[in-house]
Amino acid sequence: MKSITSVYKIGNGPSSSHTVGPYHAAQIFAGRYPDADSYRVVLYGSLSFTGEGHGTGKAILSVLPNTEVVFDRSTVDLPHPNTMLFTAFKEGRELGSARIFSIGGGSIRIENEPSEEDKEVYPPKNFTEMLDLCSREHIGLLQMIYNLEDASLRGYLKTVWRAMQDAVERGLAAEGILPGGLNVPRRAKSLYEKRCYNESADVTMNRLIAAYAFAVSEENASEHVVVTAPTCGSCGVIPSILYYMQHDRGFPENEILDALAVAGLVGNVIRTNSSISGAECGCQEEIGSACSMAAAAAATLFGLNMDQVEYAAEIAMEHNLGLTCDPIGGLVQIPCIERNAVAAMRALSSVNISRFLYTTRKISFDEVITTMYRTGLDMNEKYRETSHGGLAQIYREK
Ligand code: SF4
Repeated sequence: MKSITSVYKIGNGPSSSHTVGPYHAAQIFAGRYPDADSYRVVLYGSLSFTGEGHGTGKAILSVLPNTEVVFDRSTVDLPHPNTMLFTAFKEGRELGSARIFSIGGGSIRIENEPSEEDKEVYPPKNFTEMLDLCSREHIGLLQMIYNLEDASLRGYLKTVWRAMQDAVERGLAAEGILPGGLNVPRRAKSLYEKRCYNESADVTMNRLIAAYAFAVSEENASEHVVVTAPTCGSCGVIPSILYYMQHDRGFPENEILDALAVAGLVGNVIRTNSSISGAECGCQEEIGSACSMAAAAAATLFGLNMDQVEYAAEIAMEHNLGLTCDPIGGLVQIPCIERNAVAAMRALSSVNISRFLYTTRKISFDEVITTMYRTGLDMNEKYRETSHGGLAQIYREK
């Protein structure tokens, strides 16, 4: 498995596959053809259907201003649902081209070239093998991470955590209508401030966690800087839990960084053995993964053992199986923003079940990931980030 740093990428929203990945692809392509005076980028598959709402063209044009962006919605035989064809020109003459795939979480792959993220860091390929390694070496998951990763990991996690907190704080302070034409108001600030009369501690906790998740997701919808965790669409789940734990419950920052590391490990196992792309396997791969990562993070913070961490991640994923991706108008707003808040609360419920019942479980984390991947491959294309089905369709028909 690769480094967990590939799970957390800092970039502009609203979509890791549709803005962070294409932006990164444009940067690489621009570097290859510094003499080019114009470009053409053809977007296929999910990028062509929801790229307009997600701002894919805008992300590419911010790097390559003199570019004709073409949305090709008719080509169907694609090597990946998020395929782009970049071509560079000088005085009308073609200099070269490259097919680039946005493979989820802001990562890209250039056709017939090794990926920039191909370096193997973890010998285990799945969660079971990681547990075996830990028990052979009498270490915990955290020790394994710090033994195998580069010494710069801690500093990277610190930068990631700062960016996550900044997104929460900007989102809590902002008001107004989100861009894109759906007229969705920002709601994080009012949720944060709206304490009800006689509010119980449980309601306060859920309200605050939801407010933090809304804050980050609204920043994402506004095309501001967020951290893929593991994607932009699901970027509010982990920060909301960790922000609550540090700022409202008093957990120290060093423990928050450890929790972020374990969450990254869970995301890493998912992206290695399945996918984290809504265009490939639906929202279960985005929100389900984030929920699972957040559950593992919270279980780590609470000092639970490795089996409990795994079970919490498994429960969180299992009950997101089959979740479809159907963003209205191709915007990462409805159902995405509320979905982040609900997933954060579900992550904590999963930890609570795991804490008490981990010795009775029947399904491993690896099994639920395999199930998710197969479910995603079986999913009708309408429900894989095309905005052709579900809420997107119902809303259009109104
Ligand atoms: S529905 Fe889920 S997968 Fe689809 S854009 Fe929204 S958050 Fe991402």
